[in-house]
Amino acid sequence: MGADPAAAPRIFIVSGPGGVGKGTIVNALVERDPRLWLSRSWTTREQRQGERDTAYVFTDRESFERRIAADGFLEWTNFLGNYYGTPTPDPVMGRDVVLEIEVDGARQVKSLHPEAILIFVLPPSRDEQERRLRGRGDAPDKVSQRLQKALDEEPVGMAIANHVVINDDLERTVCEMMEIIGRHRGAA
Ligand code: 5GP
Repeated sequence: MGADPAAAPRIFIVSGPGGVGKGTIVNALVERDPRLWLSRSWTTREQRQGERDTAYVFTDRESFERRIAADGFLEWTNFLGNYYGTPTPDPVMGRDVVLEIEVDGARQVKSLHPEAILIFVLPPSRDEQERRLRGRGDAPDKVSQRLQKALDEEPVGMAIANHVVINDDLERTVCEMMEIIGRHRGAA
């Protein structure tokens, strides 16, 4: 944030089809830039083997629905049978919010906050995307569902994105995104 710590935080949305490396990218961004505040989503999906406890707030449908009823989400969606949602953000003063979410959620945030910056990440190739999706340990039927969903998400996301970035090389991609974030801060 600029000189005025009381100004509303900027919102940077990182979205893109499954298997594109969004999680790795946002972790690198928040590690390098202490002014970024990463929102932790809620999900009803089961925790994967080896997945960090802090990756999400893992919860059940009832608790999720209670939070929807209490208006406790900035956005939420049903992604392949599970709920995912961004709790109403409460960033530390002076930090900008980073959301790592799928396309329907990105669309919701953009309509509530048109000034939010949507960076849409694309895979370098279908082969690489498939390899990443298969490497997560999901059951084969889930992998096929996620591949199909990823194909459906791409055109929708690209149509509403402020920036499109190809994740061909993690270091290069993170640098490009830091530059984009810096430019938006400078422009405010
Ligand atoms: P996964 O099950 O692979 O962790 O996540 C599935 C998809 O949901 C990914 O595209 C991920 O970015 C997205 N996602 C994670 N958290 C949220 C959230 O809070 N809201 C929305 N709309 N999508 C999310």
